[in-house]
Amino acid sequence: MSEIMDIINAFKSECACGRKHAATIEDVQIASGLVHHVGEILRNNGFSENLLLIADKNTLAAADGITESLQGFHVEYKLYDNLRVADMEHVEEIESMIAGRDISVLSVGTGSVNDPCRLAAARQQKKLCIFATAPSMDGFASYSSPIVCGGFKSSYPAKSPEVIIGDTKILASAPAALKSAGFGDMVAKYISLVDWQISALLTGEYYCEKIASLARQAVDELMELADKVTVEDEYTAGKIFEALLKTGIGMSFSQNSRPASGAEHMIAHLMECKELEEGIVPNFHGDDVGVCTLAMLEYYHAMASVPAIRAQKESVDWEKVYRFYGAMSEDIRKLNEPENIIDEVSPELLEQKWPEICQIIRSIPSCEQCREAMRKAGCKLTVEDIGKTEAFFAVCTEYSPYMRKRLTLRRMHKMIRCL
Ligand SMILES: [Zn+2]
Ligand SMILES: [Zn+2]
Repeated sequence: MSEIMDIINAFKSECACGRKHAATIEDVQIASGLVHHVGEILRNNGFSENLLLIADKNTLAAADGITESLQGFHVEYKLYDNLRVADMEHVEEIESMIAGRDISVLSVGTGSVNDPCRLAAARQQKKLCIFATAPSMDGFASYSSPIVCGGFKSSYPAKSPEVIIGDTKILASAPAALKSAGFGDMVAKYISLVDWQISALLTGEYYCEKIASLARQAVDELMELADKVTVEDEYTAGKIFEALLKTGIGMSFSQNSRPASGAEHMIAHLMECKELEEGIVPNFHGDDVGVCTLAMLEYYHAMASVPAIRAQKESVDWEKVYRFYGAMSEDIRKLNEPENIIDEVSPELLEQKWPEICQIIRSIPSCEQCREAMRKAGCKLTVEDIGKTEAFFAVCTEYSPYMRKRLTLRRMHKMIRCL
């Protein structure tokens, strides 16, 4: 049994957070040459003889040998040309192919291929296997699906796959750019975890130390491998994949994306939405997220160097916010009216807890340490590297905190006056 399954099973006992953690993941296999054993693995896990294989041209080519491994199955295919943006139409299309039938789903690819499958399989209650083709982001084991609907990207509760397969040979030979993006997505966890902890401190939001430690351990381990990320090495590729799975598993245990997504992901999501409006195909998720993480690391550590603050109620020019969001403004309004995530934060408590907040921030590596690791891992490092202007980046940083019902330190920017 893989180390990952041991971790999943270890979570099944009663947890100090008071919740009983359950994941629907039944089997995780990571090894060399697994592409030739996919049929066997699915059969062992009770998958239907009828299979819908979903991939795009690139991911199917990467999984060379997978069709031959499915002998004895009735395989139907849904092949996209180059699926870079997962849209609700993709979800509905997949749903229409599986609704009311005895059929299981095999998704071959990474984020944008897997995300619609996860939601369609959840809605139609079908078994799902994800065959990963690149260690490019951490959503493989995740419970929710980020999907674009009407130009607005949101996270939909979906399901974790029953089976996850990572063939280290394929993962190792994935394009270096995809592996670097995966690394960028992982470094983000430092900010995500800080935001989660701070929110728990100020609002009493649900927080699980065990899940947070799992994600923290995963990113710390990956930081050690920074200089090997772009090398075609099966051992390292397997380790990177495991780290990505761990944070995904964390998300499926917390039933939200708190362990893996904070202020940095919001900026990246907002930039992506704005680019989609313009018809621009977004960068790899982890490229944008990595650069946003560096910006937040700089900001968070700068805040942590402020010994004392004065806090006041947030005052926002909402009309200005909605004007900026344009076509998305109705969605944003629903997230901020009538009640607002920041209403729960008492300025007095924020002042009082400030030393503790600074301590939480100081527990993560510095911006320089992360930048250095990202440089070794071949990541994009600057706003220019990800093809944006400084002005666009700044405005997205400013407005992004309003696009989620989720408290981050960045969201409290307008409450805090440094002394
Ligand atoms: Zn727990
Ligand atoms: Zn991410």
